[in-house]
Amino acid sequence: MQPVRTRLYADRIYELGTENAFKIGPHIARLESEGHKVVRLNLGEPDFDIPPFVRDEVKRQLDRGNTHYCDPKGILPLRKAIAAQMKEMRGLDVSPEQVVVFPGGKPSIGFCQEAYCNPGDEVIYPSPGFPIYESFPRYLGAVPVPLHLDEGSNFTFTAAQLERLITDRTRLIIINFPSNPTGGVATLEQLAAIAEIIQRKCGPDVRVYSDEIYENIVFDGLKHISIATIAGMAERTIISSGFSKSFAWTGGRLGYAVFPTEEEADTFKNLNINYFSCVPPYSQEGARVALEHPDSKATVARMVQTFQQRRDVIVQMLNGIDGIRCNTPGGAFYLFPNIAGVCEKVGAVEAFNNLPAAARQRTAPSTLFQMFLLYGHKVASLDRNSFGRIGTEGQHYLRLSIASELGVLEEGVRRLKAASEDRAGFEQFMRTFEVH
Ligand code: PMP
Repeated sequence: MQPVRTRLYADRIYELGTENAFKIGPHIARLESEGHKVVRLNLGEPDFDIPPFVRDEVKRQLDRGNTHYCDPKGILPLRKAIAAQMKEMRGLDVSPEQVVVFPGGKPSIGFCQEAYCNPGDEVIYPSPGFPIYESFPRYLGAVPVPLHLDEGSNFTFTAAQLERLITDRTRLIIINFPSNPTGGVATLEQLAAIAEIIQRKCGPDVRVYSDEIYENIVFDGLKHISIATIAGMAERTIISSGFSKSFAWTGGRLGYAVFPTEEEADTFKNLNINYFSCVPPYSQEGARVALEHPDSKATVARMVQTFQQRRDVIVQMLNGIDGIRCNTPGGAFYLFPNIAGVCEKVGAVEAFNNLPAAARQRTAPSTLFQMFLLYGHKVASLDRNSFGRIGTEGQHYLRLSIASELGVLEEGVRRLKAASEDRAGFEQFMRTFEVH
């Protein structure tokens, strides 16, 4: 919930959005304290442990007392390992001086908007997309410009769609493949067409923020492709990635970005100095080992294979439910089924239309169904509007994470099917549910 408007806070505080994945926790805790067993399909983190060789290195570093301030840009051995990984995975020649380490993949999203956007400048970002993209622009007085992804193109977008949104106020274009929440992956041809439009329509000082945090979680034997590898794009692209997803290390808070120039990297180093001085050096040494250890690739590959097997089973189960249509994602560990038929069937669209106008501003049919699924059938998921709200009227989706064991996922889908047939339960739920 937003803070109540008082003189206590500056106006900008009311403009900052949030990430609902962190807000559903108290609802789950409440149900569990009442003795219910909730199936969690809301998780945005792999259900694996960090690789033992990473954990051991962090422990070793703690034992040797590597617990003091360090280089605000990131320790040089890690920045060198990241630069080497850029060469190996993408064929890009990057100096360690272009690399900045952050506490997670997330901070550079806001920092980039702070660093590149003046009030009135426009930020183009994918919707559905990671919610922090839409959360920041208004906080900074900038303008959020959602680029709506189509289910029909497996949640990618065309160059023509992007072209329509570019103006002379565009400063930042955010892209995210493989994508959260849809698992969408763009082909080389699509990326090349998108790059061509950006080079033709944008000045050289417009930046592309390419969020590649799911770079290693790509299915069907495909290889991750970065837009920065297309001719003329490395000069304009910030590549962001991190250790949360590839190494199942969300609590480590380790991410990084590669900037087009050393001078830009130094600007972000200064933001680091202002906000948190540095990222813990013992974790950074663990991250270095994550990139350099000989068992690393095989460990990641095993996790990806598990996600792919679960994807295949669960997509098929979902498509067997009347009122649900689910694409097969090319990467990440999320499914993004279209639940328009279910929203009609249980009466969520009708219930939404009958709400007072003010309540309709704050909710959506898929949100009502999401809450019914949680409270009525004990399955936690995330609704469409958790991934950007602007212009989403009439879009009915849920995000289901496949970061749980197959048996748990199957139970979740069985409950989802039961909820989709439970119109009476939904009506009952709506009698007591308050829209916040
Ligand atoms: N970008 C995307 C697309 C994500 O899905 C996430 C995490 N859910 C992040 C960035 C942030 O990652 P981190 O936890 O490393 O800050």
